[in-house]
Amino acid sequence: MNGHRLRCAAGFIVLLAASGLLAAGASASSSALPRATADRADDVSGPQIHVVYAVPADGEDRHLDDNGALEGSVSSFQAWLAQETGGKALRMDTYQGSLDVTFVRLAQTDAQLAAAGAFVREGIQTELQALGFNAPQKLYAVYYDGSSTYACGGAFWPPSLPGNVVAMYLRGLPSSPVPCGSNAFAAANQAPRYWEYAMLHDILHGLGYVPSCAPNHHRAGHVTAPNDDLMWAGDVGFWTFPAKLDVGRDDYYGHGRSDCPDLATSPYLVTLQAPAEPKPPATPARPKVVSFTMTKARAGATFKATLRLDARVLRATCTATVGKTKIRASTVIKQTRAECTWRLPKNARGKQLAGAVKATTAGGAATKKFSRRIS
Ligand SMILES: [Zn+2]
Repeated sequence: MNGHRLRCAAGFIVLLAASGLLAAGASASSSALPRATADRADDVSGPQIHVVYAVPADGEDRHLDDNGALEGSVSSFQAWLAQETGGKALRMDTYQGSLDVTFVRLAQTDAQLAAAGAFVREGIQTELQALGFNAPQKLYAVYYDGSSTYACGGAFWPPSLPGNVVAMYLRGLPSSPVPCGSNAFAAANQAPRYWEYAMLHDILHGLGYVPSCAPNHHRAGHVTAPNDDLMWAGDVGFWTFPAKLDVGRDDYYGHGRSDCPDLATSPYLVTLQAPAEPKPPATPARPKVVSFTMTKARAGATFKATLRLDARVLRATCTATVGKTKIRASTVIKQTRAECTWRLPKNARGKQLAGAVKATTAGGAATKKFSRRIS
């Protein structure tokens, strides 16, 4: 609106050991939720960060939302933040404990959005707001799988530049010596890399940091030195990693002054808790089936059946036969889910597959049977 815009450290080319062009699948994890095109019911209300995977109208869909890449990347920067703060990290929008990522296919093409030059973020924000991404106290952290001729990401910075969307341009600066897309995502158990620090940097801009009242405030939302500060944007040198959160603790985190915003007291920051063991009620309720899903039964391929209950699964039993022959399952328990996977014999086409998934909770057991012809 006012012409103010951010071209920050996150927008600079960072000379990192680039590990593979668009190497996004490296961090794939199986705990990601299935694809959703709308914001799911929130685990908690109040200020939080909601992740969006946005693809331009004509862009390649790399499934970064449901292949675990974004969930892993977010976990990586959250772990770093918790380490820097002594246990606090951003309150992310989750659904049943898993990161809630929304997939959005934008109406504009990559070229149409990139034509906005320094204002790609604004174009994405306008589209998302029109689609209803307007929840009060939600900041939308968008991984945009499109290009920009200007930067690898962009942010708003209240109060000077209001908004609710920060965005990484995953295919930004395509003709630069180090295109944005040459950076790989970190996995959940890895230290942050470029995308992790850049997204955190831009989320902090969206939360109003570094505020202009900070003693070392520089260039709309940054600090000048040292160049490994998360919010660095200096005039010489490169942004270097591993980054640190407010070196000196005098500008935006933990300075303790009341006359200038301090991220340490932001409602977007919460103390991360180890997943608590649910307290068993005096008489545990019998488990109810939430869902039962199966993949296609094809000869020579794996067949997976997942039984989800409304309580923590303690034991799972997977049984199946092809014709009259028993086949062995691999059994995995994930919180409230029992996952059974079988490999169907190559010669099983046309035969009958029959079996059952039994899951036991503190309150009892639930069983789902299935029977189908193998294709
Ligand atoms: Zn910046």
